[in-house]
Amino acid sequence: MNNSPYIGRFAPSPSGALHFGSLVAALGSYLRARSLQGQWKVRIEDIDPPREVPGAADDILRTLESCGLHWDGPLLYQSQRLEAYEYHLQQLIAQDNAYFCHCSRKQIKAMGGTYDGGCGQLTTPHSDGALRIRNRAGISQFTDNLQGPVTTDITFATEDFIIKRSDGLYAYQLAVVLDDAYQGMTEVVRGADLLEATVRQISLYHMFNLPVPQWLHLPLACETPGFKLSKQNHATAVDKRHPQPALQAALAFLGQSPVEMSGDIRQMLAQAVTQFDLSRIPVRHEILLG
Ligand code: GLU
Repeated sequence: MNNSPYIGRFAPSPSGALHFGSLVAALGSYLRARSLQGQWKVRIEDIDPPREVPGAADDILRTLESCGLHWDGPLLYQSQRLEAYEYHLQQLIAQDNAYFCHCSRKQIKAMGGTYDGGCGQLTTPHSDGALRIRNRAGISQFTDNLQGPVTTDITFATEDFIIKRSDGLYAYQLAVVLDDAYQGMTEVVRGADLLEATVRQISLYHMFNLPVPQWLHLPLACETPGFKLSKQNHATAVDKRHPQPALQAALAFLGQSPVEMSGDIRQMLAQAVTQFDLSRIPVRHEILLG
């Protein structure tokens, strides 16, 4: 770790209520930040309106509050950042670091599933369509503060991936990097489902010349191997009126010692912060719930 004050975050997408899997990410990132006397921010990742559930963002925030997970500073909503995303995209285009692409899913499938960069070689480039990064960085490795050294498939790491979709929506990879940098994150703590995607995010940091944060990927809560608990598979919401058992279970999931079930959430969390021990978190990509 460098010497700058620690800033971490929890960045839920408002596609449903906060369930056990997302509570693990929220609690893990909170404990890590607070145990280092750092700040903990919350950002609502609402850049994909078709996947959004009305009222979900507020519901997630009320659930975090009921769990005593209070964030620092103002909330950031990605839907308020569209101009910043566009500004950065225009810069990339001006530097010839991004290009428009007209290729269909079917065509990309025929290329073997990885985009071959064809639209980036045209003498008359397209002026609309999906926007792809000209991935000159091609980062394929990094060191995770829990999982250790991570190496991904080079084909995946060097692909010119999409940063703005043809339907006009900004891609998650773009928004998450610009926002984590904008909010000054020193470490990103989240679920291991995003372990691979991290190499693409690091490539974007390089392309934008932004300082790269540290990374810490927590094991994912899964029902069956390879399937994380998700809003889509109807994982049950954390009970806002009685969140103590879910918190205790999330602590156990993260390998942490139990805390007194005093009924007072603030005390429970304070004890969890004091007891927090990174070395007790299982070094696994996923853990099956029994
Ligand atoms: N918004 C993403 C999700 O809810 C998490 C993004 C991140 O933590 O980088 O799955």
